[in-house]
Amino acid sequence: MNNIPSDKFTLDDAMAFLGENVDAVILVDGEADSYKALARRGILEEVIGEEGRYHDLIEKLWYHLNNSSEGVIEDYQVFFSHAGKFVGKYSKRTNISFDGVTYIVQMTIYPLKNEQVYLFVLDLLDGSQYVDETLTTKKVSTIQNTYLFSMYVDIVKDTTNSISITEISDEVMNQQLKYSEWRMMIVNMIWPEDQAVFLERTDPEYLKKNLAPGRTTSFDCLMMNLEGKFIWVKLIFSRAETSNEDDFRFVFMVQDINENAEALMATLKKYEELALKDPLTSLFNHGSIETEINNAIENIRKNNTEVSMMILDIDFFKNVNDEHGHSVGDVTLVHFADTITSFIADYNAVVGRWGGEEFVVILNGVGKDDSIQIAEALREKIAAEPFGIVGNITCSIGVTTVSGSDSIGTAFDRMDKALYEAKSAGRNCVKSVF
Ligand code: GH3
Ligand code: MG
Ligand code: MG
Repeated sequence: MNNIPSDKFTLDDAMAFLGENVDAVILVDGEADSYKALARRGILEEVIGEEGRYHDLIEKLWYHLNNSSEGVIEDYQVFFSHAGKFVGKYSKRTNISFDGVTYIVQMTIYPLKNEQVYLFVLDLLDGSQYVDETLTTKKVSTIQNTYLFSMYVDIVKDTTNSISITEISDEVMNQQLKYSEWRMMIVNMIWPEDQAVFLERTDPEYLKKNLAPGRTTSFDCLMMNLEGKFIWVKLIFSRAETSNEDDFRFVFMVQDINENAEALMATLKKYEELALKDPLTSLFNHGSIETEINNAIENIRKNNTEVSMMILDIDFFKNVNDEHGHSVGDVTLVHFADTITSFIADYNAVVGRWGGEEFVVILNGVGKDDSIQIAEALREKIAAEPFGIVGNITCSIGVTTVSGSDSIGTAFDRMDKALYEAKSAGRNCVKSVF
């Protein structure tokens, strides 16, 4: 055919040329959800197969996850019935991964006369010829790859345009999807606790009231990606500039902010720990344990629960510092804290460092009699614990129970009085004041 002189070349020759050179021609029936390949060549022979479900074809061509053998999770299938309704010709360049290699495919779709019947023509682009273009695409996608998808919405007409699931795209797809339908599909991809706010913020009435012409607004939430993993995204709404109040079009964008959000949350968590924890022992600090006591009192008032508290003060701790030095004293305090922590693991209890060598334990669901027994068991455990070169140490414990009429001050005074009694009685013992 290449030998035909150009002045003799006819339409038939052109058709024959295309028949021999186009990589795949597929007839699709959207209604029946089926396709049949009329011609296939090269890798497309393997990737596409002779016939199959239209959904599967769409998944391969639109939602292919680069360099991944993973398919698209079930929930995203809801898009497929809408993804393929074409009202005009449509052309797209897409990537297809096969055996670890990514191929660039030019795809053109021609709607036939019958509704939802299309001819898909796929042509593999030769890598070497398209290097320049690929590089450009890559550059663009590094800037844009945090955008998962975008679309153009007209609330008045209840329409959407240009949905691209894996990339932002300037192509206008000849697809029809109502905004109202889209909202109800996408809400399934939102983290359950964020669904209410998603529905509120995407409600046409809400947007009309709160999104002035030219304004942009956004909010963050967790959304499921194609692989079924929840990631942090920013949903962005930007209304078109207009002087007509009734003209309501906006661009909607989903931006992947997962990496930043996770780093930010880790930092916040660190600061939260710093604010709540004692740096030496990692127990709750003075302020946190006060909060815990207040919460316990509130809980007693609301739910009529029983709560006991005890304060532990190490006996003659000054001697530890004097004999072994301050750093051994520090190690001993950490060891002491760990001993309490492992002891209270069997109870619904929290422990904090009240200051210096004094610790407070709050025992939830524990009344008068049990509180003394538990304190006694803890005292014995500590007395039996070897503290390295320091050897054995003991502590004195003051116990009280908390009532709904207590304030943190009144409850604490009783506990402190009990501790004073324990010290006066010769130390290494438990005393209680109720
Ligand atoms: P008592 O039996 O009467 O409680 O005697 P004590 O020596 O434990 O009591 P005192 O209150 O006189 O001394 C407490 C000591 O705890 C004094 C202080 O140096 C030491 N201390 C407080 N905080 C720390 C700390 O963070 N690290 C170290 N190494 N020592 C501390
Ligand atoms: Mg003390
Ligand atoms: Mg002491």
